[in-house]
Order: sequence, then structure tokens, then C-alpha cells
Amino acid sequence: MKGQKKKILVATGNEGKMEEIRQILGGENILFSSLKDEKLQDVEIIEDGKTFEENAVIKAKKICELTGKMVLADDSGLEIDYLDKAPGIYSARYMGENTSYHIKNQHIISLLEGVEKEKRSARFVCAMACAFPDGHIVTTLGTIEGQIGYEEKGENGFGYDPIFYLPERGCTTSELSPEEKNKISHRGRALLAMYEKLKEEEVL
Ligand code: IMP
Repeated sequence: MKGQKKKILVATGNEGKMEEIRQILGGENILFSSLKDEKLQDVEIIEDGKTFEENAVIKAKKICELTGKMVLADDSGLEIDYLDKAPGIYSARYMGENTSYHIKNQHIISLLEGVEKEKRSARFVCAMACAFPDGHIVTTLGTIEGQIGYEEKGENGFGYDPIFYLPERGCTTSELSPEEKNKISHRGRALLAMYEKLKEEEVL
């Protein structure tokens, strides 16, 4: 709808994600707020879904019900085919929430020791859900395919980026600049798809 500023509450406390969302969905017609802005950062949400999409919907719905606002939420993680898609929806909690990613990444490299290149396939997945006060929900999914590397490489990004190797680029997602990563990442793709859907919904 033109001329009217739309407000979207993003169900995250992560400033990096907020920035990326503002970059991709942002425009003059839209005002974003975070859980912190709404003083809702301590709300407990039990993410007991079995898929990324279910968890994104759980978060968006809960905050939408609490506030009566349009709410965008995401859920993402790493699927490693050789490990039956682990860590998957447990990516953040894998080996314990407080374990460093250096330790997690070294552990994954050791689990794949001796495994040939063709069997090291993996992907980052991101599900986005937008919950509307009238109860309807729109979801999108974005993925990026890669392989688990043989060593950690790169200084950018976070989490599993240093071991997520992109064969066609010859580097890990941790060696890409944030702008380069956003263009091709699972989150970037899910957000672009959400942009299209929100336009269809006449939100943007
Ligand atoms: P969240 O659901 O977006 O908070 O992400 C869950 C977990 O997935 C993160 O804590 C990371 O372990 C992993 N993850 C998601 N996206 C990325 C990424 O772009 N790079 C590296 N790790 C990621």
C-alpha cells in the first residue's frame, strides 16, 4: 500500500540479521523494529518444531499473538548429508549452546576425516515466516549448496562459515565479504523470496 508506512517487527535479537533484513526488504515505506526495541527480548519461545519452517512459524506466530503486529521470523542452520543432515535444526545447540564454533567446526572436520569430496555435500537452509495479525502466515525457504572443507578458512561471517566451502567460488563463506555472502546466502535468498511475497500481499 503506497503512502502509508508499514511496520514489521522482526523476531530476533541479532543486530546483524536486522541489518541484512533492512538492506534487502528495506524501503521508504517500511519501518523495522526488533524484539529489543519492543522490550520483548526476554520472551521465552519454545522452538519445538521438526523443521526450519515450523520453528520460524512458531516464533513469528507467538510474537504476533503477543503484540498484534506483523512479525517476521527466521530459522536457519547447516545440513551435512554425510551426517544424515545434522546438525540441522539443532545447529545453534550442537555440542552445547556455549561451545565455541572453533570446537564445533573441528569436531565436524574430524567426523568427516577421510571422506571423499563428493560425499562432503552440505547446505545452509533458512526459513522465513511472516505472521499477520489476521492469523495468516506466509513462508519462504532459501538454501545455498556447498561442501564441508578440510580445514577452517576465513575471518568473516560466523558459526559454520569457516568450514562451508563453495566449490564454484573456490573459498568458504567465511572468506566472502558480507555483501558477497548476502547476495548468495540462504538468508539472502529466503529474504528476496519474502520480498516478492510481501509485494504480492501489498505489504511493500
Ligand atoms: P538461527 O536460527 O538463524 O539463529 O541460526 C542457527 C544456527 O545455524 C546458527 O547459530 C549457526 O550455527 C548456524 N547458521 C545459520 N546461518 C549461518 C550462516 O550464515 N553461517 C554460519 N552458520 C550459520
